[in-house]
Amino acid sequence: MRDAVSVFRQTSPGDLPRLGGMSDLNVVAIDPGRLESIRRARTDEHGNEIVARPAEGWEPLRCCLRIARADEQIALISYSPFSVRSPWAEVGPVFIDAEACAGYPFAGELPAELRSGPRILRTYYADESLDYDDITFVREDEDLEPALHDLLSRPQVAAVHVRAAASQCFIYAVRAAS
Ligand SMILES: [Zn+2]
Repeated sequence: MRDAVSVFRQTSPGDLPRLGGMSDLNVVAIDPGRLESIRRARTDEHGNEIVARPAEGWEPLRCCLRIARADEQIALISYSPFSVRSPWAEVGPVFIDAEACAGYPFAGELPAELRSGPRILRTYYADESLDYDDITFVREDEDLEPALHDLLSRPQVAAVHVRAAASQCFIYAVRAAS
């Protein structure tokens, strides 16, 4: 009995390996501080007013990395997922929850509703310039994780943007966990 108890204690939930999870990815949604400022100002970083509207139910939300449910209040903003000014620092349209949300709490895991193709995986060097040679297309219904692991194992790839296949809109970034 003592042994059984000690085994139970040794395998408490906090000690179990993450099932199916890969702990060496760092998923980066819209920066929470920037998002809070945008929502508070009711204007995005490019001067567009935040206009809440009901979701149709397909929109990928970049604040909490899930698909909007129909009739939720969402907004379309301009966002640049870069931290330094450079010719590669593109700005583009992204959907967010119109009001504060919980954000994306599972940094070590890909978002369940946004983890399969078709997607363009756009690769960047450490200085946030575009690494053209490693850009990768992931086909419809294919899981993104193997391709992300492959790309982030290449020494020159510092970050990968997961983007829509056709429009190339930014969805989220992934880095190797440090
Ligand atoms: Zn959200």
